Amino acid sequence: MKTIYFDNNATTMVAPEVTEAMMPMFTTHWGNPGSMHSFGGQVAKYVQTGREQVAEMLGCKPSEVIFTSCGTESDNTAIWSALQTQPDKKHIITTAVEHPAILQTVAFWETRGYRVTRLGVDGKGRLDMDEYADALTPDTAIASIMFANNEVGNIYPIAKMSEMARERGILFHTDAVQAAGKVQFDLSKMCVDMLSISGHKLHAPKGIGVLYVRKGVRFRPFVRGGHQEGGRRAGTENAPYIVGLGVACELARKHFNDEVTRVAALRDRLEKGITSAVPDTLVNGDTEHRLPGTTNIAFRNIEGEAVLLMLNEFGICASSGSACTSGSLEPSHVLHAMDVPFKYAHSSTRFSLCRYNTQEEVDFAIEKIPPLIKTLRDLSPFKD
Ligand SMILES: *Cc1c(COP(=O)(O)O)cnc(C)c1O
Repeated sequence: MKTIYFDNNATTMVAPEVTEAMMPMFTTHWGNPGSMHSFGGQVAKYVQTGREQVAEMLGCKPSEVIFTSCGTESDNTAIWSALQTQPDKKHIITTAVEHPAILQTVAFWETRGYRVTRLGVDGKGRLDMDEYADALTPDTAIASIMFANNEVGNIYPIAKMSEMARERGILFHTDAVQAAGKVQFDLSKMCVDMLSISGHKLHAPKGIGVLYVRKGVRFRPFVRGGHQEGGRRAGTENAPYIVGLGVACELARKHFNDEVTRVAALRDRLEKGITSAVPDTLVNGDTEHRLPGTTNIAFRNIEGEAVLLMLNEFGICASSGSACTSGSLEPSHVLHAMDVPFKYAHSSTRFSLCRYNTQEEVDFAIEKIPPLIKTLRDLSPFKD
């Protein structure tokens, strides 16, 4: 059975060009880029090219790119650095809909005496700019607001929000893991001080991330040891994955128009195909400001896990908005913050597409899903 992969917000296929570029780094160019001899030293050139390619996509200087092990490490580092460099400031602003990499990190700092403001969202997952403005205070060490939400795909007004922080002299970080390669932005034109991305969400391998730190922003390393990354992140450079991520960023730039046109059209076709054929559905999130490949669809009165298991029978990979905790299906923190009606929250299913998906795959899903939902509803104990 062919796999139809509609779970690209969870992880993505490594692009063939990325694998190809990485191979020599395993077979012939496996030296340590920090070595004095030219066998190792030649690898530094490849690392530098990767850094330049990432910088080009982000619109920043190569020296502002710090390679990390993942998006989660980048997020942890951004918060850590902001707090360590401003020991007198004891307030953190974030949102209720962040990825756990931010939510769990700020929750930890909360146990260490920090005050945390978690901005709420409306029914479509949108932030309130007045609530944000009121939260920015002289005691605020950092505002960390995600660029795009992984579950419903909402894109937040980061240009505006970073500017509001800058006006008040407050550091601004954004988790752009879902936005990178899908939303065009230029850091040289924004007031963002720090930004996180992750390789495996844009067709590079798992286990490589980037933290952008704007030149002039005070920084304190999170991982200590050697002098790599200009002393900002110790540990021997992951040269193969850095090379891969660089190529992935080049590809993302090349395919950007395809993402906002063809991928968005496929997503719309899938969404319309399902919602027009199945009664009592909701599309979660802000459909006006959303990632091109993401749709999050809720089906009244059924459970998301059941939908996923049935989709799996057809080789279709998707994700649910529920996390199975201790046997009871709790709606995710994002849907909870959005106050998605109870009868819908439990069945929320995320389909996230990428440039490798085809219309054929979408049409197969549109054909299979409506009868599948009908079967589940016939079985469901909830009938109203
Ligand atoms: C996947 C994801 C992360 C974590 O990235 P890893 O590289 O898997 O650690 C952080 N934030 C968002 C929004 C994500 O989607």
